[in-house]
Amino acid sequence: MGNQQWNTKREISVKDIVGFTCQSLSSMGSEIRRVFLLGQKLQEENPDIDLVDLSLGNPDLEPPVAVMEELGRLASEHVPGAHRYMDNAGYPEIREWLSRRLSDSEGVALTRDQVFMTCGAAGALQILLRTLLDPGDEVILLAPYFSEYRPYVTNMGAVPVIVGSDESHCPDLEKLRGALTARTRAILVNSPNNPSGVIYPESVLRSISQVLIDFREQSGRVVHLISDEPYARLLFNPSDAVSVLKLYPAAWLVRSHSKDLGLAGERIGYLAWGSQLARPETLNALRNSARALGFVNAPALMQRLLPRVFDARVDVSQYQQRVDAFVDILQAGGLECVRPRASFFVFPKSPVADDHLFTETLVRAGVLAVPGSSFGKPGYFRCSLTQPIDRVKEGARRIVECAHSKALK
Ligand code: PLP
Repeated sequence: MGNQQWNTKREISVKDIVGFTCQSLSSMGSEIRRVFLLGQKLQEENPDIDLVDLSLGNPDLEPPVAVMEELGRLASEHVPGAHRYMDNAGYPEIREWLSRRLSDSEGVALTRDQVFMTCGAAGALQILLRTLLDPGDEVILLAPYFSEYRPYVTNMGAVPVIVGSDESHCPDLEKLRGALTARTRAILVNSPNNPSGVIYPESVLRSISQVLIDFREQSGRVVHLISDEPYARLLFNPSDAVSVLKLYPAAWLVRSHSKDLGLAGERIGYLAWGSQLARPETLNALRNSARALGFVNAPALMQRLLPRVFDARVDVSQYQQRVDAFVDILQAGGLECVRPRASFFVFPKSPVADDHLFTETLVRAGVLAVPGSSFGKPGYFRCSLTQPIDRVKEGARRIVECAHSKALK
């Protein structure tokens, strides 16, 4: 490779670097991971490069102290059978407890047979999509969407159908209406949204539900609404919370504690659904999918941890401070950017139409960000603020500088 002499002054294009990375990198598929590995590679080649890595959504806030303490206690309790296989849906008593908590928070009555414990939100989505989809079915994705949705859908032989959004990153409802066909089986909704940090207002979620209800009346077909909400408890203003279970009868809730408890590596989440979908076959079909996909069940220790720490949360105000500081600098520097109301993602408009070109320019300035094209919305770029606030501000300053640089014009 012979690039040991690289330094910050040398012009480095993303294409150069990808050209000499190992096969595993080129087969990773995800552009997010590609940019992250690109940064790692750059850093290895030249430790002097002062990179601000805003590419990967790997939350940096440590789990709350209460979580660590309870984990320690749990690990030292000797409960016979506590580490064995269990019902694929999870411990009945944990599902019972969670169904009560969700009945309160979502405002709809749930039983334990409407809850299924999973390996994070990703595990929940895989289990659910395998249960719902047949090859050739269509699943609507609302751009900008989490880029892993595409492989999740195509894994099942189904087809992603993309519906665009307006400047506020909320879906275009007329396009949604036009995208529904006899093959549409589900729509994936993600609010708070990755990559935009936007929360769909209740009016938007109501309108999406109404479009699906109208479609049901006209065609007799049920479209499942899958609400993927791993950021549901990272709201800057808790009154922004909206329950889809209240709005639409065929809604599925997907949640996890990867972000709000800082437990992404421990893989704990769940699926919940409304009474209209609550049939004995539902649970059994989900159990079969969990086995067939090899998840078997959600981690036992994490399930037992949840009731003890459910009200704990990482310090969301830190994410909010970073988001506000970052957006302030960008907006003062003339960049267009919707101010997120949750999570740690910001999705500014690229100062040039070609978002790949802009993110390559950013790499040269030592900032890693992901082109909006990877999320189905070209012309934007995603910044994941999983760095201390000083680094976040430094990243924002460099982005503004790049946006005004002559090299870009
Ligand atoms: N859905 C969205 C929108 C995400 O951003 C992520 C993770 O970044 C996931 C699902 C997967 O989360 P988990 O770690 O809970 O599997």
